[in-house]
Amino acid sequence: MPEVEAVCKKLRLEAEGCLIRRARLLRSSIAKGDVEQACNRATLTRVERRGKNIFLHLSSGGILHVHLRMTGNLYVIPDYRFLVGAVRVVWELADGRGIVFEDPRALGRIALIYAVPEYGREPLDPDFTATELAGMAKGSRKPAKLFLLDQDKVAGLGNIYAAEALFRAGIDPRRQMGTLRKPRLEKLHSAIVAVMSGAVESVYELYSQPGNMIEAERQTLMVYGREGEPCRVCERPVKRLAQSGRSTYYCSGCQK
Ligand SMILES: [Zn+2]
Repeated sequence: MPEVEAVCKKLRLEAEGCLIRRARLLRSSIAKGDVEQACNRATLTRVERRGKNIFLHLSSGGILHVHLRMTGNLYVIPDYRFLVGAVRVVWELADGRGIVFEDPRALGRIALIYAVPEYGREPLDPDFTATELAGMAKGSRKPAKLFLLDQDKVAGLGNIYAAEALFRAGIDPRRQMGTLRKPRLEKLHSAIVAVMSGAVESVYELYSQPGNMIEAERQTLMVYGREGEPCRVCERPVKRLAQSGRSTYYCSGCQK
């Protein structure tokens, strides 16, 4: 998610409010719906992100749902006539610049839709509060880690940041969510917000060059992927366990 937010942040700054002269699909198999028609003389009114999904709102009423997948990238170039790399779609802007969807492996997708689907709460949405998290947690028998991965609850947290947030909050990933009391949920809420904003910041800083998507894992991780290595706080070896087929890393000393 942080990589996707970095892409959106840049697009918002550089292209929100811009008039699109036309869109050209250079590889039509990645698009669903009449993308070219919807973009014709339309203004890009808003760039919205929900989890890993990007929604480009157009003044024509259409919305482009973009999923970058593994290698996709979406960014502004100074002149739409000069395309480099594996550009799959180019939006020619009225001011001569272009927005390109570059994707070497062509795994990314664009679909024309008319309403953004429902998603869980965005961790960086200012309306996401500890009270709201407590409300969602109430009565939940799910282990904390799986609860955090549930996209209907908190969207776009992902395996790495769920593990990191639990470490920061001192919560054992197996702990039943509904058994956590308010102060611990408040701590978890701040941990989620801190981990996610830290991740977005670090990716955004590194992500300065178009087409040069850098892995989010560049920031210092406390537990994720560190099985057997000493905990950065108490020096006990970090443990790994599988929950619903996904690896969870935690410190048995720091997380209860
Ligand atoms: Zn520890």
